[in-house]
This record gives sequence, C-alpha cells and structure tokens, in this order.
Amino acid sequence: MKQEMKKFFQDLVEAPSPSGFEQPAQEVYRNFVDEYADEVKTDVHGNVIALKKGTGNLRFMVVGHADEIGLMVNYIDDNGFIRFLPIGGIDIGLLPGSRVDIYGKDNKLYRGVIGRKPIHLLKPEERTKAAKLEDLWIDFGAKDKEDAMSKISIGDHITFSKGMEMLSEDIVTTKATDNKAGVYIVAAILKELANEEVAANIYSVSAVQEEVGLRGATTSAFGIDPHVGIAIDVTHATDYPGMNKGLHGDVSLGKGPAVSVGANINPKVFELLKKAAENAKVDIQIEAAPRATGTDANAIQVNRSGVAAGLISIPNRYMHTPNEVISLSDVEDSVKLLVEFIRLIDDNTDFIPSV
Ligand SMILES: [Zn+2]
Repeated sequence: MKQEMKKFFQDLVEAPSPSGFEQPAQEVYRNFVDEYADEVKTDVHGNVIALKKGTGNLRFMVVGHADEIGLMVNYIDDNGFIRFLPIGGIDIGLLPGSRVDIYGKDNKLYRGVIGRKPIHLLKPEERTKAAKLEDLWIDFGAKDKEDAMSKISIGDHITFSKGMEMLSEDIVTTKATDNKAGVYIVAAILKELANEEVAANIYSVSAVQEEVGLRGATTSAFGIDPHVGIAIDVTHATDYPGMNKGLHGDVSLGKGPAVSVGANINPKVFELLKKAAENAKVDIQIEAAPRATGTDANAIQVNRSGVAAGLISIPNRYMHTPNEVISLSDVEDSVKLLVEFIRLIDDNTDFIPSV
C-alpha cells in the first residue's frame, strides 16, 4: 500500500468513532472523497454519501461502516473511578488491563486504564472466571468525583487506545479494523476511478451505527434507493489456533477478499463478483452464508421492494478486540475487485434471479 494511502487508513482507524459518535471518522472520509466525488453529503443520521455520477441511470450503492465498538461513561464513583457500558459487542473478559482513550468535555482526550482486582486478591473461584462488567472500572488518574466530573460527563464515549502498528510488511493491527477497512475501500474506489467514465452512478457510503443494528445502512439505502448494493465489512479469519474450519469455513489473511454466497446475496451479483475477480486477477475466498448476514448487506437487500445485494469481507483476526489484525493486500485486492465489478454493470445488467 502506498504511503499516502496507508496514512489515510491510519487516520481513519485512529479517528474515534464508536456507534453514535462517528463524526471524527466521517470528517476524515469527507476530506478524502471530496476530490473524487461529484457530490458529498452528510444526512441527518450522520451517514456520509459520496456520489460519482455515471453515464447511465443505474444506482449502485457501496457501503462501509464508520462506527467502531467502544464504551460509554455510565457512572463516576466518589473516588473518581468511571463505571462504563459497552457500545456494540464487546468481549468484557478481554478488557482488564486495556488502555483506553476517554473523550471528555470539549472533546478533550484523557488516557485511562481498565482496572480489576489483582490475581493475588481474587478468591480461588474468581480466578478461573472471566471478568464481568461490574468487576471493572476505568482509572484516569482523577483525585475524586469532583475532579473527574470537571473533566468528563455521563454519556461521554471511550475507545480502545489508538495506535496502528505494522506486524510485518503486510499485516497490520488496529483497534478498529472493523470496519475502517470498509470505509477505506469505498473511498479508494472513487480515487481509482477518478479519470474514468462508468455507466453506474456510484454512491459510496460511510455509514453509521452498524454495530448497534445496521442502522445507518438502513436509512441511507432508503434514501439512495439503489438497484444494486454491496457491503464491505470484515469477517472472521479461521487461520489461527482454536478456530474450527468445519464450523466457520476456511478463511485466511492474505489470500484475498472473502465473497459471500447464500440467501442474503443476489446470485447475479455473486456471479459478477467472480467474473470481476477473474478480470482483475484477484484471488477471492468464497464464504458460505446460508442466512441473513449480520452485515449492512442485510439492510441493503431488504430495502423498499428489494435490492440486489452482495458482500465482500476482509479476513480479520481477533474481531472486536483492541487488536484486530488484517492483511493490507486483502484491502487493496478488494479495491481492485470492486472497481472491476463497477466496470461490468450498466443499465442493461439484469439482476433478476433466474435458472
Ligand atoms: Zn463489528
């Protein structure tokens, strides 16, 4: 990945954006797509929609969600310790010992640590159990409640400590690969197609609130009313210890984007994605998805009277932890795959399923 694009990815992942508080990440997205889109608008829900006009009438929506999981200040005790609630699907057992960023009054950043009773002081039966929400607190060095309340308020949001790091040339770890990788891809395709006319009107959406119920994709799909739509998200890689390929399929980092097939996916879109992968000389991994997926592809498909939906996913290790891990080449290959898919569709493309 070129340095300038890696910087854009880093700016996205390091912008704090738990569900409902996405605008810092949206600002990064807006600033990037502005140069490549004919129109950029932010809707009342907070979704940012960048439109590149096509030569035809087909409306193609491609969406990545800007929100990440996080925490919210719920209560501050007399000693100035913060008790918190999860935003999205947090694995509470993984939290003790984490460093966090608290966005307080005037959006000022405070560093904190998640505390738990040390192992020496745990009762034997507590030692073998994962921590529960009520066993944990955030210590941000406040003197007491008054001091804490002068800096932060109930409802303030908290993210895992930022800081993207390369584990190798290609493998990167961040707090919010899910799903800044998707936002990166829907932005990067506009840059790739900057000097090219295509038939489809491309609506690149950086959506809000996926982690709390696919909410931004639901409202933006209604507004755009696309004929065809693809969601870009992350999926569970199964190439690390303890993963059962028999149950969760065979998905590895660095072997290309995962393309889903099943009820949530329009069969013509699936075939076109396979053709696009061939044209772009990109390896893909097929992922079985027999039900509605837990992604924005679900919201797109059941929009209004139905939309031809597809799903491309970046293989991701350690989903919803402070250290998610992906391959940057999978991200770049997803951009190539999508660009080629866009070149294949126009007003005459028939998305009605047939035998
Ligand atoms: Zn997620």
